Amino acid sequence: MSHDFQTDSRKMLKRLRAVMAQDAAGQARLNQITALIAEEMQAEVCSIYLFRDENTLELCATQGLNQAAVHETRMRLGEGLVGRVARTGQVINTDNAPATPGFRFMPETGEEDYCSFMGVPIQRLGEKLGVLVVQSRTSRSFSEEEVYAVEVVAMVLAEMTELGAFIGDGAAMKARHKHAVLVRGTPAQEGTARGHAWMHEPRVIVTNLIAEDPVREMERLTEAVEVLRVGVDRMLSSARFGDKEQLEVLEAYRMFANSKGWMRRMEEDINRGLSAEAAVEKEQSTARARLSQVSDAYLRDRLHDLDDLSNRMLRILTGQGTERNTEIPPDPILIARNIGPAELLDYGRCLKGIVLEEGAVGSHATIVARALSIPLVIHAGNITSDALNGDPVLVDGDQGIVHLRPDETVIAAFRDKMAMQAKAQERYASIRDKPATTLCGRTLSLRMNAGLMADLPSLEGSGADGVGLFRTELQFLVRSKMPKRAELSELYSHVMDAAGGREVVFRTLDIGSDKVLPYMKPNDEPNPAMGWRAIRVGLDKPGVMRMQLQALIRGSKGRPLSIMFPFVAQREEFDAGRAELDKALERERILGHPMPATIKLGAMLETPSLAYAPDQFYRDVDFLSIGGNDLKQFFFAADRENDRVRRRYDTLNISFLTFLQSITQRCMATNTPLSFCGEDAGRPVEAACLAAIGIRTLSMRPASIGPVKSILRRTNLDELRGVIDDAGRNGIQSARPCVMEYLREKL
Ligand code: PEP
Ligand code: MG
Repeated sequence: MSHDFQTDSRKMLKRLRAVMAQDAAGQARLNQITALIAEEMQAEVCSIYLFRDENTLELCATQGLNQAAVHETRMRLGEGLVGRVARTGQVINTDNAPATPGFRFMPETGEEDYCSFMGVPIQRLGEKLGVLVVQSRTSRSFSEEEVYAVEVVAMVLAEMTELGAFIGDGAAMKARHKHAVLVRGTPAQEGTARGHAWMHEPRVIVTNLIAEDPVREMERLTEAVEVLRVGVDRMLSSARFGDKEQLEVLEAYRMFANSKGWMRRMEEDINRGLSAEAAVEKEQSTARARLSQVSDAYLRDRLHDLDDLSNRMLRILTGQGTERNTEIPPDPILIARNIGPAELLDYGRCLKGIVLEEGAVGSHATIVARALSIPLVIHAGNITSDALNGDPVLVDGDQGIVHLRPDETVIAAFRDKMAMQAKAQERYASIRDKPATTLCGRTLSLRMNAGLMADLPSLEGSGADGVGLFRTELQFLVRSKMPKRAELSELYSHVMDAAGGREVVFRTLDIGSDKVLPYMKPNDEPNPAMGWRAIRVGLDKPGVMRMQLQALIRGSKGRPLSIMFPFVAQREEFDAGRAELDKALERERILGHPMPATIKLGAMLETPSLAYAPDQFYRDVDFLSIGGNDLKQFFFAADRENDRVRRRYDTLNISFLTFLQSITQRCMATNTPLSFCGEDAGRPVEAACLAAIGIRTLSMRPASIGPVKSILRRTNLDELRGVIDDAGRNGIQSARPCVMEYLREKL
């Protein structure tokens, strides 16, 4: 046997290509492939096992084993050596198969006396498709080079399986990307959507895997690396110092492009007969397989970087994926591994839904998706590998479920759900112009939370009384550099125009904690939520705060202006903020800008300390707004970003409701207007309870105004208050079960 393995694998791939070029049916092709591999490897047996479903492998072709076992022999994932290869995605190479852990004898195949066993996973980009097995009677351990050659063949097979090369004569194989897939993720923005997959980074389809001329392929690889390098250099020269994302890309590029290992492995792949793109993809596949096994966050990030770089390289080599905007499918549902807030805003409202493999409940992309009211599911499995541009998709943002290429019954059930939701929307629309007056005759003010210009069209449609919380930091977060004062004042002015005379409460910059500006040096703090954030940053580095206050005064153009400071924990902070505002007003007056008609200055109550601030504080502020998201996390000492603990403590916990009630009482005693603007204000049951304990202004996402108004108009707050009080008296910790029972009876 020749030991020039590079020539061997090239020869094998060349023959493989010849087989694929023939116009043979699927099964015949598979048979030819097993025959040629067995011959090339000088082994008696070569078999191909493919997944029938997630857990079952089926013998689909064999050279050397009993032909009657083809499409009959099946095994579960993990069962026998073949099942073990499939489960772990790792090669098994042994000269004594029967003594190898996991060995299972399968008499129907007639494999009794094959000592040597080499099983190689057939996988593409971390997606397991089957196992390629070579066996021989003589006890021999296959050399590293031989394993490598079979791995390359397995990769080509994976690619062909995906492209449907084996379909056509009932060979019992499903093409990937043809069958229905159900993905269970995490809900991040409620709502349902039906549409078609729009890949943020369309999958690059590699069709020319095997190449004749390694010298040419090597040149192509080198050229692609060069293009990549020039691209990154260009990014670097346009990046200002401190642009984290760009520096990270660069760092990753440096690591990999200069990584001798990465280039060397790709060059070896090419020498063995792969095309440049197949070599890139082979390395990408290896990285993805590792990704599914490592839990270390740093290592995962680096593997993701390698994945991104590989995608860039593949796009350079194939020229695919550069014309995204020309092929928007109808009712697009954006599918991405992750996305930044600015990119998401670029897509805008045309999206019907968003599905991300990663993402976080509190991430900026989630904030933007919420602002745009686009259903969003995060942590959605391997959706970027499973979906192709244009695939039908159903997104259930309430449950966190995504149906890819759903069948008719699922579509019908989904249609019913969407119809019910549409009916509910109609009901909400019918009360849009009616007041939020309860059965006991109290009228609440329902306002909306906003932060982007894109939010403002909802003001009319939702029937909101105004904007109770305008999160000004979103404008800072979606940009790659600090906005200018003139830009901001113009924007604030537009916001007031859009509100058409209704009050807009502008919250000054709330950065820090989870909201890190891309162009500010990140601070490594052990507890960012309790760290240098919001008004603390504003007072310590007053430049930005002054600029923002000026922009707000100018943007008001003589109209009434409402401002609130976030995260005030003690009186002095509010007083210092007010002093800044007074200075800004004086400066603007001297400069000749019109003064706001009236100014209301309030504080957000987000730390328990403020509930116990001196009476004078309550009298000094023009209003207070409870930031329930933060207040709750500090009250229960449960991080709002931490999935493990954030749902542990109920908002309807008697301790929390009693605490909130004591705040309402203090506000009443001091005549301080009070609102609530955390997420709970938009949850109908929670909103009714907040109203029952005396809160009269609620600010929420625009889409929640209809449902909240609907429940309030059907509720008697005195009775509900009685239910909550009784629960507490009876020693019940969460009032929820009692409240739910009462509401179910009454509504
Ligand atoms: C809150 O904490 O409840 C709040 C409204 O502010 P944010 O969610 O922006 O921190
Ligand atoms: Mg807050």
